[in-house]
Amino acid sequence: MKTKRQQALIYLLVLVAIVVLVIAFLPKGEEVPRKDLSEVIDMINNGEVKLVQINNDQELTITTTQDDQFKSTLLATYGGDFIERLEAKGVAYDVTYSSGFDWGTLFLTLLPFALIIGLFWFILRGARGASNQAFNFSRSRARLFTGTRPTVTFADVAGVDEAKQELQEIVEFLKSPEKFLALGARIPKGVLLVGPPGTGKTLLARAVAGEAEVPYYSISGSEFVEMFVGVGASRVRDLFEQAKRNAPCIVFVDEIDAVGRHRGAGLGGGHDEREQTLNQILVEMDGFDSSTNIIVISATNRPDILDPALLRPGRFDRQVTLDRPDINGRKGILQVHVKGKPLESSANLDIIARQTAGFSGADLANLVNEAAILAARRGKKTIGMVEFEEAIDRVIAGPEKKTRVISQKEKEIIAYHEAGHALVAKRLPNADPVHKVSIVARGMMGGYTRLLPTEERHLWTRSQFNDMLAVTLAGHAAEQLVFGELTTGAADDIGRATKLARKMVTTYGMSDKLGPRTFGHKDELVFLGKEIAEQKDYSDKVAEQIDEEVYSFIHRAHEVATEVLAKERDRLAWIAERLIAEESIEGETLERLFNDPVPAREERIPAEQSAN
Ligand code: ADP
Ligand code: MG
Ligand code: ZN
Repeated sequence: MKTKRQQALIYLLVLVAIVVLVIAFLPKGEEVPRKDLSEVIDMINNGEVKLVQINNDQELTITTTQDDQFKSTLLATYGGDFIERLEAKGVAYDVTYSSGFDWGTLFLTLLPFALIIGLFWFILRGARGASNQAFNFSRSRARLFTGTRPTVTFADVAGVDEAKQELQEIVEFLKSPEKFLALGARIPKGVLLVGPPGTGKTLLARAVAGEAEVPYYSISGSEFVEMFVGVGASRVRDLFEQAKRNAPCIVFVDEIDAVGRHRGAGLGGGHDEREQTLNQILVEMDGFDSSTNIIVISATNRPDILDPALLRPGRFDRQVTLDRPDINGRKGILQVHVKGKPLESSANLDIIARQTAGFSGADLANLVNEAAILAARRGKKTIGMVEFEEAIDRVIAGPEKKTRVISQKEKEIIAYHEAGHALVAKRLPNADPVHKVSIVARGMMGGYTRLLPTEERHLWTRSQFNDMLAVTLAGHAAEQLVFGELTTGAADDIGRATKLARKMVTTYGMSDKLGPRTFGHKDELVFLGKEIAEQKDYSDKVAEQIDEEVYSFIHRAHEVATEVLAKERDRLAWIAERLIAEESIEGETLERLFNDPVPAREERIPAEQSAN
């Protein structure tokens, strides 16, 4: 902080020095000699004067009969007498009134004020504890928003077919809005792209503009964080003004979480600038009417911390999720990036895709680039499998590596874990249908099983909760059943199951033993938006009973899960094997795995897989 202020001071001093130098070397105004009025009159009387030009600054420019000129400031004011005299003597004259405005003078007059104001500004900035962004400030103000016309299309984005499908509608709207408006359709104003870093959010936003052939304007939420109060908001205004003028178009707000965090969270109050920027974005979006053909796309990898105001209808009410690519997705992304690069026949994209579990789109782009660099450095004309193999290691070991690569053993454990969730969910009557199973890492989770509720629910039954508990614990049960060993991968599940079981007992009165009453009283501190304290309104003896009941709910659920899995041990293996091979399964394929007779082990395992 201190050093930043010192830095600012140094900048200021340098600025002052430059100004002083400029003034010192500024071309001096010509020295204007002073003359007495009588002297001039003498010259006129002597017939030496041909032309007199007079301005309202008491300056005369006199052209003599010898055709030279001199300028003078008169010591005495002249008046009507003087003009009469000129006329009497037949001297031509010309009176000009200058406004007295002169840039140089103005500059010099205002300079001290400007410096003082500048100094105050710096001091105030320092006092506010804001970091020194003064120079960025002027730079960013100067940057005008010019839309680009991206040439990327959906063909350049691979492995995110669902997201592309969802965005297709936006593209069609941008292309021919009248078609939608004629039917009175409400067009989405905002789409939120959610996904881990490097999954192609920015790329996809540009591709939407590219597909629709409309201009693309972009800003990043992180640009605003360090700015002056008011600047972010005015930049947003500028941006939307530009966008409106060039509609239909796309406005892309990258990293919206940087400005769109929960407002007013935390005790110290929000960040003024962020809040103002966010408010301005919302104001702009609310100001769209049905004829505004602007679609605002924003991206985040932290949807959990977003201000709920952003997600309200008429704002970013559409969410499009981008997952890390599965094996087919990775192959597709590799194909996009090797386009135009000469590959050796040895380079097998299928194998590379299989070896790069956990890689994001950005990692794969990077991988192809590294391989090309390696080949070039070896003086080769084509990229071979050796280079790809080496590039994989490099990307994994890269300097700021966040990519988690999953070993074959881990993959197997995760596959059984997820297959366990899926199979139990499928078999229990009160669980929601299974929509998709995947072992592609997502956040801290190894994989995920997505259930799709058939209807919106407002009431839950105890049977539904019990089945849900069993499904939640099924990953753990599968690991135990198959490997006889447990991993940390189930920690999250166990936490959720415990919470649910506890709620069943203490909040919903679903324990027969303890009966229909609530235990504990939670204070919700509104300004924190989180439960912060629990008041215990029961005895220690009851506390023990609660624990016992929670345990028995969980224990029973775990038993149910284990039972289902043990009965279909072979099917569990079959699903897990398919998951290892394909990484994510949904739809018909998934249904077949649930319902078809399980083939014998020798038939199930593809030759390439058993080699691993
Ligand atoms: P994000 O915005 O989600 O962090 P980016 O869109 O910035 O990711 O991706 C960075 C780069 O990685 C892209 O420019 C592209 O080269 C590559 N990339 C990422 N995802 C994909 C994908 N699905 N298909 C093709 N290339 C991708
Ligand atoms: Mg991005
Ligand atoms: Zn799990």
